[in-house]
Amino acid sequence: MMRNSLIILLLSVFNPVSYAQDIALVIHGGSGNIYRENLSDSLEGLYREKLYEALISGYEILLDGGTSQEAVKKAINIMEDSPLFNAGKGAVFTNAGTNEMDASIMDGSTLNAGAVAGVKQIKNPINAAIDVMNYSPHVMMTGDGAEAFAKMRGLEIVDASYFYTERRHMQLMQIKERESTDQGNQFIKNHRYKFGTVGAVALDKSGNMVAGTSTGGMTNKKYGRVGDSPIIGAGTYANNKTCGISATGHGEYFIRGVVAYDISALMEYTGLSIQEAADLVIHEKLAELGGVGGVIGLDAKGNVMMSFNSNGMFRGFIKQKGNPQIFIFKE
Ligand code: ASP
Repeated sequence: MMRNSLIILLLSVFNPVSYAQDIALVIHGGSGNIYRENLSDSLEGLYREKLYEALISGYEILLDGGTSQEAVKKAINIMEDSPLFNAGKGAVFTNAGTNEMDASIMDGSTLNAGAVAGVKQIKNPINAAIDVMNYSPHVMMTGDGAEAFAKMRGLEIVDASYFYTERRHMQLMQIKERESTDQGNQFIKNHRYKFGTVGAVALDKSGNMVAGTSTGGMTNKKYGRVGDSPIIGAGTYANNKTCGISATGHGEYFIRGVVAYDISALMEYTGLSIQEAADLVIHEKLAELGGVGGVIGLDAKGNVMMSFNSNGMFRGFIKQKGNPQIFIFKE
């Protein structure tokens, strides 16, 4: 960790074009009922390390003059490849015992966007979303069609068994056991049973903002259920005029509240700051609907926002010359 900080410091001091524009990167690794007593010291350490690696790797791209899209992709790929998060490798299980993933990306300079939903064999769903945005005339592709497109684009395809992890499988078993009881319904309502969707928002040297989100959705989901993560305006949004947003939480409420776009619209039409707009949406509007979760974001100046009404959210940010900051619990 110390070594990485030193490298970042040296890069910032010796890179003469570093500060053409304030660069920043903010990430999340999911929200939920995350209490200190539920997370062992060793597991907490693993989460912190992975969040740190994702932040540093994305930030190095921005420092080197890379684009927000590249930084978001890198940060999300690192979390997708880790079994810790509910995305890619660590995706939760559906009721049918499969893993069905969703992802989306949006570019704040063009308002172009791409998304995939219900994919089962694409190793990094965010890469497929990026290709939908960059190499197709569409915004969203689902299931087999999305997979055929990803294959055609040469993205990494894996056997569905790649997504099996014992921890997530046990969560499915536990939730199925509780499902029929009142206690089980309360459990689901309280969003206690899973967390780990990942997301990133970056601002690069040319002032362009990109936001992306990738998820396995919700444990025990049925009937091809799709949440907010691949829905532009609900789970992901970016507009260079206002902000970039990635959400995590109980997706049905984020869809109904059009959460990510609502934050942008509040900024655009009322002049609220990104933190004020997000707090209004998360703590008042979403909470009134009964929704639990959170959002991360950046505004055009690189101001960082992190807002959630759950008990915790894996999250972190790094800004110009700054050290990476990582948080898990309510501070
Ligand atoms: N928002 C995701 C979904 O509803 C899940 C999460 O963020 O925890 O699919």
